[in-house]
Amino acid sequence: AVEVHGAHKWYGAHRVLDGVDLTVQPGQVAVILGPSGSGKSTLLRAINHLEKLDVGHVSINGELIGVRRHGERLKELSERAILAQRSGIGFVFQQFNLFPHLTAIDNVAAAPVATGRAGKDEARAQARELLERVGLGDKADAYPRQLSGGQQQRVAIARALALRPGVILFDEPTSALDPELVGEVLSAIKDLASSGTTLIVVTHEIGFAREVADLVVFLDGGRIVEQGTPAEVLDNPRHPRTREFLSKVL
Ligand code: ATP
Ligand code: MG
Repeated sequence: AVEVHGAHKWYGAHRVLDGVDLTVQPGQVAVILGPSGSGKSTLLRAINHLEKLDVGHVSINGELIGVRRHGERLKELSERAILAQRSGIGFVFQQFNLFPHLTAIDNVAAAPVATGRAGKDEARAQARELLERVGLGDKADAYPRQLSGGQQQRVAIARALALRPGVILFDEPTSALDPELVGEVLSAIKDLASSGTTLIVVTHEIGFAREVADLVVFLDGGRIVEQGTPAEVLDNPRHPRTREFLSKVL
């Protein structure tokens, strides 16, 4: 399970995470909703230790992320150890962040080669399979600039899969896309959901949340205001803030 315990984060005097406790069970899909500035990206970035919490900690399958216990206190892990942990956590960003000078297949094969997980030929063979899985078997040799936004984001998803992560984090994966390209990316994510990978997805795509999420979390002002099944949070929200937010995005 992905477990966030008592997460607090400040930027100067600005409190961005204010006591977040969240558990996502293995194989579950959690969708995180919330207004701009509510701390969604900060929470995702804290899960893979791109952002350090001021208080609290994250563990994945019982392993602390970014820190280790040192008597009563937590002590930062080495950069190398953090990178090793991160390789088990995929991350897909709003902007696809592909390497512009590499073809689709080399974007996907890059990390397994760089981390020594696979030789070049093996990594490329795996990358080809992953591109097929996201429906891009015929685009292996295209450069990012030759692909649509939806195709680029599907390459980014294949790239996130290349290190065979147990958990994949998505930060608004469709919000930079033209509306007609959103569906193809959501359906690639949906396929992953049925493959047993744990997914944590920040998105405002309520239809996707309703169809795919096991857990819907509404974040506001750095706190979890409400969480539950899609039926609970989306169809019968208890908190006025959740209702107000949903009335704006639905
Ligand atoms: P959005 O929906 O706009 O992406 P979000 O919910 O992802 O918003 P965050 O990016 O987590 O929100 O930011 C939460 C708050 O923290 C915001 O008020 C933001 O301005 C602030 N913040 C984020 N990163 C930094 C930073 N590096 N330095 C200072 N403040 C920051
Ligand atoms: Mg954000």
